[in-house]
Amino acid sequence: MASVKRQLLSGDEAIALAARDAGVAIGAGYPGTPSTEILERFSELGGRGQWSPNEKVALEVALGVAFAGVRALATMKHVGLNVAADPLFTAAYTGVTGGLVVVSADDPGMASSQNEQDNRRYAVAAGVPLLEPSDSQEAYDFVFAAYEISERWKLPVILRVTTRVCHSYTLVEPRASNRAQATPRFDRDIRGRVMIPAYARPAHRRLRQKLAEIQEWNESCSLNRVVPGGSALGLITSGISFMHAREAAPDAAVLKLGFTHPLPMKKIAEFAKSVERCVVIEEGDPCLVEAIRAAGIAAEGKPEMYRFGELDVPRVRRILRNDTSPEAAKPPGKPPQLCDACQYRLVFETLRRKECIVAGDIGCYTLGVLQPFEAIDSCVCMGASLGVGLGLRHVLPRDQARRVVSVILRPQRHQRVGRNGLQPAPRGPRADHPRQFDDSDDGSPGASRHGPEAGPRADEQVGVGGPGAFARGEARARGGTPRRFPRIRARVG
Ligand code: SF4
Repeated sequence: MASVKRQLLSGDEAIALAARDAGVAIGAGYPGTPSTEILERFSELGGRGQWSPNEKVALEVALGVAFAGVRALATMKHVGLNVAADPLFTAAYTGVTGGLVVVSADDPGMASSQNEQDNRRYAVAAGVPLLEPSDSQEAYDFVFAAYEISERWKLPVILRVTTRVCHSYTLVEPRASNRAQATPRFDRDIRGRVMIPAYARPAHRRLRQKLAEIQEWNESCSLNRVVPGGSALGLITSGISFMHAREAAPDAAVLKLGFTHPLPMKKIAEFAKSVERCVVIEEGDPCLVEAIRAAGIAAEGKPEMYRFGELDVPRVRRILRNDTSPEAAKPPGKPPQLCDACQYRLVFETLRRKECIVAGDIGCYTLGVLQPFEAIDSCVCMGASLGVGLGLRHVLPRDQARRVVSVILRPQRHQRVGRNGLQPAPRGPRADHPRQFDDSDDGSPGASRHGPEAGPRADEQVGVGGPGAFARGEARARGGTPRRFPRIRARVG
């Protein structure tokens, strides 16, 4: 067998390498921390990676690839799976022909996100298998396992990683032989892929039958393993929590779950019976412990205070001591702020001075909420500035409604989700268009300008204006004379 050199890789890089080695035909995604590097590296490795206008489209592209009998990868951050949820749920019914792996990169602790939703819930809700690697080697190996599971049961598989797994570097020993890409083909399967109610009803039954078979198979799956230890304490854990648990309690027996939906309940019950005290160590929502207790297995969870933010070794020690005393405050870091030469400082100053009611959006312009501007009044999710602004303008008294401004966005985001807010509704009154300005140079994680196969900038296609255009539009709206703003070159931070 040819020897393969070990490599020091981040989890994202390991997933990209595995996708290349596993013969993935196309990787599609939408960028966002902590998932962005997967497609970038996949592209650098010679894979065919492409950004899509949003995560829904990325998953649909990947699903089409998988319908054609070849392997497909879809990547996104956790909130992106909200956007892609529509095709995900029905893809579980249609199934796939070639393997389809959906990477959900979750961000517990919200290093760079607007919420810390736990996407393990999506696997349960959609009814798809879920794998959770703990380090880069597992991220590499689990990609292969995910394709094998996907092709065996003809289902999409979610590979759920978290920020620490995505961005931590550990050694990876790649496989010696890579898989060649399969030849695409199209086999007609109208009843299997056209989800009208008459075909979707039996499809749902097929899905539940598959999940029952997978659960039985998972009882002896090598992705779940017991790390032997003393019988006084047993820990059940998955993902990055396994690393913290091992360090916090090196003498404990550990059931490390890599395949976490559907759960191997017999294996879990057997492990729980083998120890005097059984504690579930998991980051984020109490997904594992709820499922384990619902199956009638006695296990301790964590106090509610540890649901928030990332776990680490000291926090796991506190969980094991059942310590609910207040935690020491973390040392304050330098607060984020707009770059010194950011051209949007002018915009936020104007918005504040004019006492505008500002429906904001995600990106570095969200920093306009901080001092000295304090010029943003809401920020919900990507693209929400338009819808929220419209809602405010619909109902506020006229003198307030005319001060509502929707702050949008990098133009690609306008393309991605924001423009829905400008579409006329199928019935009802015409939408009242809010004011907007673009941000072509933001430094936020979704800045896809540098990604693989990045196309022309969306503002080059749709011709929306910068802060100068915003100010001129404001002047015209008030019946005044447009004033030219001085051009300021932004330093992209
Ligand atoms: S990255 Fe660009 S848009 Fe963001 S704060 Fe810096 S200069 Fe402004």
